[in-house]
Amino acid sequence: MRFADLAAAYERLEGTSGRLAMRSILAELFRPLGAGDLAKVVYLSQGLLRPEYEGVELGVADSLARRAVALATGTEEPRVATRSRETGDLGTTTQELVGGRSEARAGAPLTVAGVYADLERIASAKGEGSQEAKVRTLVELLARASPLEAKFLVRFVLGTLRVGVREMTIVDALAEAFASGTKEARTRIEGAYNLSSDLGRVATALAEHGVAGLDTIGLTVGRPVRPMLAEREPTLAEVLERMGGRTALEYKYDGLRVQAHVAADGTVRLFSRRLEEIGAQFPDLVAELPKAIVAPPAIVEGECVSIDPDTDEIQPFQEVSRRRGRKHDLDRVQAEIPVCLFLFDILLAGGRPVYADDFPDRRRRLEAAVRPSDRVRLATQRVVSDVAGATEFLEEAVAAGGEGVMAKSLKTGSAYRAGARGYWWIKYKRDYTEGLTDSIDGVVVGAFAGRGRRAGLFGAFLLAVYDPKRARFESFCKVGSGFDDARLAEMPKRLAPFASPVPPEEVETGLAPDRWFRPGLVLEVQGAELTLSPVHRAAPGAIRPGTGLALRFPRFTGRIRDDKGPTEATTAHELLELYRHQVRHAAPSSGADPEPGD
Ligand code: AMP
Repeated sequence: MRFADLAAAYERLEGTSGRLAMRSILAELFRPLGAGDLAKVVYLSQGLLRPEYEGVELGVADSLARRAVALATGTEEPRVATRSRETGDLGTTTQELVGGRSEARAGAPLTVAGVYADLERIASAKGEGSQEAKVRTLVELLARASPLEAKFLVRFVLGTLRVGVREMTIVDALAEAFASGTKEARTRIEGAYNLSSDLGRVATALAEHGVAGLDTIGLTVGRPVRPMLAEREPTLAEVLERMGGRTALEYKYDGLRVQAHVAADGTVRLFSRRLEEIGAQFPDLVAELPKAIVAPPAIVEGECVSIDPDTDEIQPFQEVSRRRGRKHDLDRVQAEIPVCLFLFDILLAGGRPVYADDFPDRRRRLEAAVRPSDRVRLATQRVVSDVAGATEFLEEAVAAGGEGVMAKSLKTGSAYRAGARGYWWIKYKRDYTEGLTDSIDGVVVGAFAGRGRRAGLFGAFLLAVYDPKRARFESFCKVGSGFDDARLAEMPKRLAPFASPVPPEEVETGLAPDRWFRPGLVLEVQGAELTLSPVHRAAPGAIRPGTGLALRFPRFTGRIRDDKGPTEATTAHELLELYRHQVRHAAPSSGADPEPGD
């Protein structure tokens, strides 16, 4: 195919906004093509060279493109810059400059295959001299280009193709070009795309074997599946009703969604919700997954959250997000921010696709496929069939650090629907909008050794409230955030007078800090809310047997309350009042979701 035909189609697309009109322009473009050209044209139309998840980038900065345009058109570089500022688009400027060029076009007309190969060369140029090599290739391309071709070449390399083609419009066009546009064919094409995340591959199968060719596209380890998404309902009663009176509730962990592909040889690839490859940022998971997955090859999905290794408490989202995008210092960050992947689904088990199975079967397979460890566990789940049961589970989920619950349909047809949002999964977040406004004065009764950057110092402190009736100090949180370096450095000295070789008799806690302190030093903390905890002991049993109150996501305010002695700290009774006050405010849920969709 001549590149001029592609450029002409892009020019038409640019002047079109309706999805239907775009579909026919694209269908016309696709129809005559053989598999090889078709895949390339599909990728190029998405503004890509390879499926997005491969992360192939051209690495052409504006300045580099300007230099190539200047060289190819014999224009001074500053003039190119000025002109493109005026037009607001280097593509249009290039079209103009190429149009006014005095020399004749050099060489043979451009073909799609030739342009694509050159673009691949530009993308793969790495290291020393690569910038020059990129410029050279681009100059050679521009020398052979017509003004219109030049415009789209430049826009493509800059990642600003701007023809406005969305994936689903390409799916429509493929259906029209290769399957006479029937709804059924379109559904199958979209399904193949959702499973493979690769429109070029789908197009190739269609061009070669028509709709029947799509049967060859299944799950492949190493190629991400587009994630299934959840709907929402405003109340748990409506969640249950929508699910037909019975549903599997799971903790909704607030972290990063991870799709893990574990190959037979133990190779692991991790993909984010947006299908970017993120294994490099989670070497600990990459190391752990082959041990945790009993029968590879497998594709599993879960939510990755940061975990406090001492308390096993889930940390706020901000913690795990510090692991994302990290390229340097991975060892330190790994030690400082340990994570756990809570698995909630399985798509490929022991090499067998199970995504089309109903959810209860998938959950059973998931349970059989995973050997849980500190780093990889199963999402906590309970099947409920009434609002009381659902509410209790929700409270438990929130107390455990979840942001709410995910309801999963147990009905026939509850397959994993790649790329689709529907009521087979319903999210329900607990409706608490305000954090605790009151601060709490806690007594330090223990400390935990620091890791990573805090190695050699204390990393976190165990705090207690005072119960005057029982003359006990009952732990309610472990706090590590809110301390600056100076404060942390000072803490060992401040605490030294209270050091105790054994757990002080008056202290009650389910945790085992590295160092114990007799109650003495008082710190002011704030937190998101009070929850029930199995490891903390504040006001034990006052709300529910076997649990104490705990402060969720605690943070040191920076104030050491030297003006207060330990018995003047916040009392267990005051904490209980705060908890009751907060419950009155939170219930019943209005269902408002503070998050502006996704
Ligand atoms: P949202 O991002 O608010 O639309 O909620 C959906 C997201 O919740 C999913 O994409 C997952 O990343 C996350 N999530 C947390 N826990 C679960 C779970 N048990 N099942 C499914 N998704 C979960």
